[in-house]
Amino acid sequence: MPIYAEIVASGTELLMGESQDTDSSYIGSRLPALGLELRQVSLVGDDLERYVEVLKRSFTRNQFTFTTGGLGPTVDDVTREAIAKVFGEEVYVDPVQQQWLIDLFKSRGTQMPSRNIKQAWLIPSAVALPNRVGTAPGWWAERDGHVLIALPGPPRELAEMWEKEAAPRIKARVTGSVVLTRTIKTIGLGEAIIDEMATEVLGIENPYVGTYARPDGIHLRIIARGSNEQEAKRLLEPVDHKLRAIFGKNVWGIDDETPEDSVGTVLRVRRQTLATMESCTGGMLADSITNVPGSSSYYKGGIISYTNDLKVASGVPADLIETYGAVSEEVAAAMAQAIRLHLDADYGIGVTGVAGPDALEGKPPGTVYIGIAGAREAKASYHRFPANNRGLVKRRAVTAALLALRTHLLEV
Ligand code: ATP
Ligand code: MG
Repeated sequence: MPIYAEIVASGTELLMGESQDTDSSYIGSRLPALGLELRQVSLVGDDLERYVEVLKRSFTRNQFTFTTGGLGPTVDDVTREAIAKVFGEEVYVDPVQQQWLIDLFKSRGTQMPSRNIKQAWLIPSAVALPNRVGTAPGWWAERDGHVLIALPGPPRELAEMWEKEAAPRIKARVTGSVVLTRTIKTIGLGEAIIDEMATEVLGIENPYVGTYARPDGIHLRIIARGSNEQEAKRLLEPVDHKLRAIFGKNVWGIDDETPEDSVGTVLRVRRQTLATMESCTGGMLADSITNVPGSSSYYKGGIISYTNDLKVASGVPADLIETYGAVSEEVAAAMAQAIRLHLDADYGIGVTGVAGPDALEGKPPGTVYIGIAGAREAKASYHRFPANNRGLVKRRAVTAALLALRTHLLEV
């Protein structure tokens, strides 16, 4: 029997779209490993009545409910009030928490403001979860097999409390169910073809395999459930092997691996080097490459050739730009080749495109050409990304450039 969970994120600023609900993604991504199956994420404003409603509903459907936010000292922080109502219990000031708060403020050289006393509240069914980085203790409240865990909103406080307090307690509580997941990341194949190639493992219940289209290709996610870790592993591994065998060179990464990690691993193993010339990505490509520890062993550097003059000064033939335009296949390939030769690298990447919002040289925003140069050839590919946001176009271009190199590396 799966153990179901729901996350309730609170805060009017989340509803208004002023801040993103990253807390739910944080918690959600950690639940499978603990054997919990997330069924729903709910967002509520700082509204006591709605909050109580959502919590009550979660209680009838799930064994675990997580809340984030609303543990602060102000009147719009209503998480404790909401939980007390759902449990039908009165809040009281817990002397231990009260003393901890008084001491905390004293250590910061101030007196505890009277309204912070709220943060020392408890109800009979709850224990406090210590907060090592902020003033709001969390709550672990339970009754009749239902567990409610209240966590603070600020992501740093949430992460700290999750790792030190919540996760260990959940682990101790949930026995008899372990869920393991693995994500296999592919590039170069469409979702329909992937579905067809993987039919024999899609549609099995345990391990379950799902396919997801992402900016960096199609991901296959394996979820295996067992009564212990070995059993879950025994179910997961054969499917993992099968999928890697089916998709072979189209697999570029596993789990959290990024395109820059993947490219770095191949270059490091082969003792080969890379140089970049980028235009519309404005340095984001170099930034991503150098975010990988040890990238100095294979990355020789790059040029942000934002103007045509700098492209020409960096070795791109001026007549190519005149004939085809700066945003073209020919120029992307020439940029890759020029920087490869200039920095004496094994491979060069060239990126030129239109980040938007306006068109350039008659090419619509989102148009990007990616050049890859190696010892034998320089070639380029055309991409068209959704163009509603400059940052996203740049990000997609960087991902595509790294994956184009990764694909090229596996061909040579
Ligand atoms: P505080 O003591 O700071 O008031 P809190 O537990 O009451 O903490 P909130 O008041 O709900 O939490 O949120 C405080 C800040 O934490 C928000 O301004 C926001 O930056 C961040 N935050 C809250 N909820 C989330 C969430 N779901 N995802 C990401 N960040 C969040
Ligand atoms: Mg608050």
